[in-house]
Amino acid sequence: MRSLDQFAQDRLQQREARNLRRAIAETEPSDSVWVTRGGRRLLSFCSNDYLNLTQHPAIRQAAKDAIDRYGAGAGASRLITGSHPLYAGLESRLARLKGTAAACVFGSGYLANTGIIPALVGKGDLIVVDELAHSCIRTGASLSGADIKLFRHNDVGHAREQLAAHRGTHQHALLVTEGVFSMDGDLAPLHDLAALAAHHDAWLMTDDAHGIGILGEGRGSTFANGAPAQVPLQMGTLSKAIGSYGGYLCASQPVIDLMQNRARTLIYSTGLPPAVVAASIAALDLIEADPAYAALPLQKAQRFTALTNLPQATSPIVPLLIGDEDRTMASAKHLEKEGFLVAGIRPPTVPAGTARLRFTFSAAHEDLDIERLAAIVRSHILA
Ligand SMILES: *Cc1c(COP(=O)(O)O)cnc(C)c1O
Repeated sequence: MRSLDQFAQDRLQQREARNLRRAIAETEPSDSVWVTRGGRRLLSFCSNDYLNLTQHPAIRQAAKDAIDRYGAGAGASRLITGSHPLYAGLESRLARLKGTAAACVFGSGYLANTGIIPALVGKGDLIVVDELAHSCIRTGASLSGADIKLFRHNDVGHAREQLAAHRGTHQHALLVTEGVFSMDGDLAPLHDLAALAAHHDAWLMTDDAHGIGILGEGRGSTFANGAPAQVPLQMGTLSKAIGSYGGYLCASQPVIDLMQNRARTLIYSTGLPPAVVAASIAALDLIEADPAYAALPLQKAQRFTALTNLPQATSPIVPLLIGDEDRTMASAKHLEKEGFLVAGIRPPTVPAGTARLRFTFSAAHEDLDIERLAAIVRSHILA
């Protein structure tokens, strides 16, 4: 055991030396934007709960009702015990929202990406992926055994070069990007990527973790700019704007049937607790009924970028690049002293030299609070 603990200590010290050691702070949510940490009430600008649905009374009630009706847990994989009846309701709502024939719900967004990608491509196939794509896309790509080529962030020309150079020597090709980039808040050029994918017979897959519920009247990044982009594989998570938990893939019926037969993270992992599925259904009903509400987080973010002279926000995520890790964490500390909880993001979550503050905005943020935050950012961080 001593060599094990020694190993762990050594690894931690290496991180400490580079100011990259992380620790998880106990933080109690009191409502949708206020939290308590270390005995202090703080206004949070770091949650992905963009629509504040984690705390919505109708959603909480739907979760409680599902527990009373179906119990606390699912008991086994859906392939073994079958899906409890709520799953069909959730999957049909997701398919409708995304305009696809079918949908499949996974245990989480991470499990979705690590299951979907190896179910579609393998040895002898090609994956062309944006260099800033989320860790779990990279993990899914590695697990698949396919050859992986990165393209420079949102650079369609570079993606074209990669496909032109490598497509011919591979049987199948997957082109993967995020709809809304989780650490940068910018959108992928989906129409151009869709045209490129069609030209090279590559399958376009988007991870819309930060787009669903927000862009395109809540339908996601595919619907953000005019006519829907042709995206045959729309993946995302139910844990951000939807306020619950779980991942999904919206696609054609044969692709979804294939997932139920080949996606290992679906087949060999327990189904979601009924309360979680019920909460997602209630959230999607709310979003469908009130698309104007979905537009609020972006409006709040744009108010902040206007007040701080940052580039205009295109999503509820606003990065403020600082570069240096120490300065980033000191800035986050300063904001915390002023009563704001803002995430300092360091490598390896983002590339070396691009440490940043990451502000996320939700429908429930008050304009006055955004103004107060912007004033402090202007005087202490941008000055
Ligand atoms: C959060 C996130 C995930 C993971 O989703 P979870 O449901 O939290 O596991 C996947 N992709 C992107 C882009 C994300 O931001």
